[in-house]
Amino acid sequence: MNKEDLSFKVRQSTEINVNECYQCGKCTAGCPVAEHMDLRPSIIMRMLQSGDAVAEEEILRSLSIWLCVTCETCYSRCPMELDIPKIMDYLRVRSYNEGKVHRDARDIVTFHKSFLNTVESNGRLHEMGLILDYKMHSGNLFQDVMLAPEMFSKGKLSVFPERIKDLKGLSRLFKGQTKNNKS
Ligand code: SF4
Ligand code: SF4
Repeated sequence: MNKEDLSFKVRQSTEINVNECYQCGKCTAGCPVAEHMDLRPSIIMRMLQSGDAVAEEEILRSLSIWLCVTCETCYSRCPMELDIPKIMDYLRVRSYNEGKVHRDARDIVTFHKSFLNTVESNGRLHEMGLILDYKMHSGNLFQDVMLAPEMFSKGKLSVFPERIKDLKGLSRLFKGQTKNNKS
């Protein structure tokens, strides 16, 4: 394993050795979104093993890493107990930091950011804030708008957020995280 290989960096960051994968395919067979992926989980593992720079670039530019919903089905099925969702997390951060996000994943990235914005503001998720932030930044103003009345009537959406007490502590945590992601 070369120090410049993506698999080496994956191992450094996640302590997972992708060379332990023996391509049984159980991860892909159980993945609920595999049929929509451009690179299926077991293929990503194989491409990481190859150490091929072109394959690594393809992984970082793939849609698959953004479609993974971290359900952990692959992890629970893997006979080698390889934590693929953790690898996907690492790949997403790399892809984002290197400006390689797949064009069809932009709304997913916007959703991730809106989620973090609302957690950073309140210390917990505020669904209404998340929806408004996402709509403002994605431009998808009317997407799913017909669901709102029913969600309101069932008490699933509250207008005002509940906030935790230690927002300053949370702010320090977010600042530290941003610094780590950039380094
Ligand atoms: S964690 Fe991701 S890759 Fe694994 S089964 Fe779930 S969606 Fe698929
Ligand atoms: S289930 Fe595990 S060993 Fe099998 S292909 Fe997937 S990652 Fe590799």
